[in-house]
Formats: sequence, structure tokens, C-alpha cells
Amino acid sequence: CGIIACIGQGAETVDTLLSGLSSLEYRGYDSAGIAVSTASGIDVRKREGELVNLRDDLSAQPISGVFGIGHTRWSTHGPPTDENAHPHTDGEGRVAVVHNGIIENYQTLRDELEARGCTFVSDTDTEVIPHLIAAYLDEGHDAEESFRKAVSRLDGSYALAAIVAGVDAIFATRQDSPLVVGIGDGTYYLGSDVPAFLEYTSNVVYLEDGQSVILRPDGWQVTDSDGSALEPEVHTVEWDA
Ligand code: GLU
Repeated sequence: CGIIACIGQGAETVDTLLSGLSSLEYRGYDSAGIAVSTASGIDVRKREGELVNLRDDLSAQPISGVFGIGHTRWSTHGPPTDENAHPHTDGEGRVAVVHNGIIENYQTLRDELEARGCTFVSDTDTEVIPHLIAAYLDEGHDAEESFRKAVSRLDGSYALAAIVAGVDAIFATRQDSPLVVGIGDGTYYLGSDVPAFLEYTSNVVYLEDGQSVILRPDGWQVTDSDGSALEPEVHTVEWDA
């Protein structure tokens, strides 16, 4: 339902993700979660119910990371539970993904991945995405190629963002579901909607269907689906909150 992500200098990652999720609450949701990249891998926290459940959990056992992704979920596949909340992972701590929308061919992909030995822990359509990315990593592709190959297998509607352990980047794309890039001063954001990051920047790039963006600590690049670089216009939004 709602996506937020941030990377760059001086980003207070967990605070920024939580504040983005709170700005997206108006869209409605039944669970919330974040994944952050740390020196030793990826940390994920996710809770069914209101954002306060996630906040309480993080207060009791804080995590910190240099960049990350967050999600508020409005269930389409599987009831609202901790396990079904996003981010979803490959189960081995290598990939974490948040997703808005519906993957129409998830059952075919899940059957294929289970036949390869993947273990699924949720009822969601989304969980096939981190497993697919990990399967391409296993075949020797780099993170960007693995992301693109995984996305090319998806049918349906999606705005999604992924992180890969050991890679300083956020990979994201969209098809029939909105996704906006926020260009701050040395810090870069993703949101399913501008309010997700409006308190940090009002400079935005509206991704079009089939386009991807890679955010890195020192910059960003929008590409089309085959990876060719694009030069999209940066808009300044005037938004009356
Ligand atoms: N289809 C996904 C799920 O049920 C994403 C739902 C959403 O857009 O929040 O988990």
C-alpha cells in the first residue's frame, strides 16, 4: 500500500522510514515494517497492526542502518500477520523487498522456486520477488542484473523496492502502481506518494511504467526496462499539506 525508502549522507534511516510510514498512514494499512542495511547484513522488523506496534518493537530493541526501505501493507494475498507483513526476504538475509500491488503469476513462480528448494514463510504474492532475485544472484548475476531479471518475470501491478546485502543501493521499479523519487541534498528517497518524503525534499522525479531507478549514497539513475540510462525531468512540487 505505502512505500518509503531513503539512502545518502546524514539520513537518520530508521527515523526517516518511520516518519515516511506515518505520512502514508492516510492511505490505510493493516501492517508495517522496515528493512535496513547494516555493516553485517540486512535487519528486518515488521508487525501486524498499527504503526505503534512497530515503533514499540523498535524502541524495545533498536536497529540502525545506513539506508533502508519501509512499507505499510494493505493485504491482498494472505491475512494481516507479522509473517505476511513486508519487507519480505529470501530467508537467507541476502535480499529484502517491499511491494505494492499484485503479482498475478505468483503461484507459477512460487511452484518453480519451491521446486528449486526455496522455503516460503508467508501467504503473500510478494515473497516470490526476493526469492527470484536471490535465485539470479545464485546464478552469478550481479545485484542490478538479478533485480532486472527478476522484475522481467513478474506479471501484474507493482511498485517495489529491493535491497541486497553487501550492495550500497536501493533498486526500484513500477508497473501500474505509483512510485516517486525524491531528490534531496545528498540524500535520495522513494515514495509511493510524495507525502512520504515531502518533509525532506520537494524535488521529485515521477517514474513511468516500466522504468527503474537505482539510488546510491552518492546519486541516482533512472533507466528503462533494459537498463538504458534516461534523463528524466526533476519537478518541484508545491503541496499544501
Ligand atoms: N499483494 C501484496 C500483499 O498482499 C501487497 C499489498 C499492498 O499493496 O500493500 O502483501
